[in-house]
Amino acid sequence: MSSEYYVCTGCALLCDDIEVETEDGKLSKVHAACLKGVARMKGCSNPLECTVDGEKADIDSAIAKAASILKNAKNPLIFGHGNSSSEAQKVSIGLAKKTGAYIDDTSSFCQGPIIEAILQEKLKTCTLDDVRHKADVIIFWGADPSNSHPRHLSRYSYFPRGKERQRGWEEDRTAITIDIRRSSTAEICRDTRFYQIPMSADAEFMDALVSGLSSKVPKTSFDFDKKRILELANVMKKAKFGVICVGLGLVYSLEELEPLFKLMEKLNEVSNFHLIPMVGQYNMRGFNQNLFAETGSVNRLKFNGETGNTDHGAEYSVVEALKNKSVDAALIIGSDPLSSLPLSVARYLTEIPLITIDPCQNLTATRSTVTIPCALGGVEAGGTAVRMDGVEIELKKIIETDNLSDEEILTRITEAI
Ligand code: SF4
Repeated sequence: MSSEYYVCTGCALLCDDIEVETEDGKLSKVHAACLKGVARMKGCSNPLECTVDGEKADIDSAIAKAASILKNAKNPLIFGHGNSSSEAQKVSIGLAKKTGAYIDDTSSFCQGPIIEAILQEKLKTCTLDDVRHKADVIIFWGADPSNSHPRHLSRYSYFPRGKERQRGWEEDRTAITIDIRRSSTAEICRDTRFYQIPMSADAEFMDALVSGLSSKVPKTSFDFDKKRILELANVMKKAKFGVICVGLGLVYSLEELEPLFKLMEKLNEVSNFHLIPMVGQYNMRGFNQNLFAETGSVNRLKFNGETGNTDHGAEYSVVEALKNKSVDAALIIGSDPLSSLPLSVARYLTEIPLITIDPCQNLTATRSTVTIPCALGGVEAGGTAVRMDGVEIELKKIIETDNLSDEEILTRITEAI
């Protein structure tokens, strides 16, 4: 077994206590990771091949072709980034600037607005280590970490003992789940208080909680016991260190963040509450932070040539750019939009020159003009990444590969343009 610890890149929890065993230059065993993490770290069952126009190619020809596609495009799109190191993301941002490209990532249709509000200091946040050591009230809102981030409950939020939570989950922590269905997380937390709300009722439930926190009678248009809302408001009020773990269920339900801002403002008048986005891909937050540092926006951006001027907004999102057919080539890094976006939107990708950089074969790669295999982040390549709570984590290379890292591939494409 390895004498050092490695980081799992299976999700944005970036667990840093992973031990491995290697055999014949491959990972044979992965210790401490959850099943999702083991699957990620053991690599692809179907690795991507280097191809140009559907034929096997060498890396130099593939990079030259990719560079030529991006150079000849008037409005290229660069999309993906959530499974890339921060170093690769920064090169990609430079490439977008050089080619006047649209640049976006999956946060554009999930946690982007929450992360933007945190970076703009409109929402109070904390680290996962703060949660482990201090949190006494943990709310999983539209989040089901026992499936999405399997070690969240055991490492940080519910079960572990912390400096100020010596008795752990038995007596020192209250876990609350607010969701439209009884999730696995609601089942696991022994003393959980589960609040089942109707679909898309999150904003209204927040308003009702604000009323409860203001000692007013909460009202909802749906049938919900007022006493239970008041009881929840009371638990939140008494929290010494509360945290709301924001899941996709909540993000998708809110049309705007105003109800969440109001709730957090009220909570911090009467109590002490923080918020952490339950980011999925291991370095999605890194992309948001890196782009924000460069441009002041977290996603949905278009560079206007090398001037550094940018346009930002919904129309520059990957979804709108594809729907409106406003891009004429695309570079996809570590993502599979043909599988993950609605077909009516993603289909346009099959009509334009497409480049895929990824360690593994996927549907988008099968329709790409150029495919370039890259090293698997955190296993075959090192770098840094940003955990869901904004803490930077160093990734170490564990095993060798013949593939270049995505950072090296993007650097070579940039140099070739
Ligand atoms: Fe990896 Fe996430 Fe599982 Fe931790 S919880 S071992 S980071 S997949």
